[in-house]
Amino acid sequence: MTKNVVIIGTQWGDEGKGKIVDWLAAQSSGVVRFQGGHNAGHTLVINGVKIALHIIPSGIMNKKVKCYIGNGVVLSLPDFIIEINKLEALKVEVKNRLRVSDACPLILPYHTKIDSCREKALGVLKIGTTGKGIGPAYEDKVARRAIRLGDLNDEKIFKNKLENNLQFYNYILKNYFKTDKLDFQKIFDTTLTAYHEIKDMVSDISRELNVVIKEGANLLFEGAQGSLLDVDHGTYPFVTSSNCVAGNASVGSGVGPNHLNYILGVTKAYSTRVGSGPFPSEVDTNFGVGSHLSKNGLEFGTTTGRSRRCGWLDIPLLKRSIQINGINGISLTKLDVLDGIDSLKICTAYKCNGKYLDLFPNNLKEIINCQPIYEELKGWSESIFGCKSLDKLPIQARKYIDRIEKLIDIPVEIISTGPDREQTIFLNHPFDNKNHGKV
Ligand code: GDP
Repeated sequence: MTKNVVIIGTQWGDEGKGKIVDWLAAQSSGVVRFQGGHNAGHTLVINGVKIALHIIPSGIMNKKVKCYIGNGVVLSLPDFIIEINKLEALKVEVKNRLRVSDACPLILPYHTKIDSCREKALGVLKIGTTGKGIGPAYEDKVARRAIRLGDLNDEKIFKNKLENNLQFYNYILKNYFKTDKLDFQKIFDTTLTAYHEIKDMVSDISRELNVVIKEGANLLFEGAQGSLLDVDHGTYPFVTSSNCVAGNASVGSGVGPNHLNYILGVTKAYSTRVGSGPFPSEVDTNFGVGSHLSKNGLEFGTTTGRSRRCGWLDIPLLKRSIQINGINGISLTKLDVLDGIDSLKICTAYKCNGKYLDLFPNNLKEIINCQPIYEELKGWSESIFGCKSLDKLPIQARKYIDRIEKLIDIPVEIISTGPDREQTIFLNHPFDNKNHGKV
């Protein structure tokens, strides 16, 4: 039996990872977040009730599961507390089951302010960030001036660091962005008050995880965003500011890579993207198939409410994702959204500056010039919404899955046919899978 599984979005995020993590969490003893911040958004539907999570791992909905926020996550304390309170109001026990790393860099008000000032200044060239200060917080981490959660345990250290950082940021806010400065005392007081609310949850996560692994725990590492938004491997600079690929599950939690036994890629049966950046297989969402995908897939963001751009499934992009993550198996989600489309297209390669490419290029200039080459498959008219077994799927849906498997040379292990936990076809369970050990 496999011990530890990493779940990764293989496209630009919003693949439906939350539902799959929630489902698999029932068979795990712990779920770990290792990157990103509250810019991530998972929507879970449990017994018909919709719950949006941003920073807390989706495993929190399973009573027996412990949840961990690793050092790779940037943390906004006010937003973290709002989310805890929302869950506790729904009678989900959080405080006793969630641990957060003392090494998490904090997102503070100057990060949020810098984020929005920059996007405004960029105008049409904006990155399309969520405006939540995630990027600037990661910049501080790399610049070695971040205030980490553990620093709040010593008021003197916190005061010193905050004074230095505010001096720097207030200078930029006033002189470069010509906007108001931020008040030291207000940030100092509110941050400490928030810290005291969650203090008992703060811990050395690397140590805790290594202890539970030794005791025989099986863990799920829950990726946020998607592989093509990875700061190194994505469509740079239209990316998020962290590494979303599987390797970061190790760095962002303090667990050695030899403990990551299986990488599950979550792939939407078509493509979507939020914000700016290249998207070779994009279609117009104002009419036809684009409008069908947008409306039937409810393609607007959990965190921002922004409508998502839509397009056909892109195989060269998936191949890139498989390569940078070491993916063992795929969970294909939202297959039901394709119900009623007469003819389905799969982008199998690109024409780019006179060349034929079957792998998503690395370089923005090349990506922009990629013209998709499509293969067409017959669609199905029946509703597969909620279908729970492969043999109940129409033959055309099975052909679509078979074709994807053939093109990417990776097995489809799970098929999702609706947002609810139960609307799932399990072909091979990631915690009990013969293909393991390839990583
Ligand atoms: P995540 O960030 O990857 O977890 O994805 P999101 O939660 O942002 O987006 C996925 C959305 O699709 C959510 O609203 C889910 O409830 C929904 N969803 C997940 N799987 C399926 C599915 O198989 N079919 C349909 N129709 N909706 C799904």
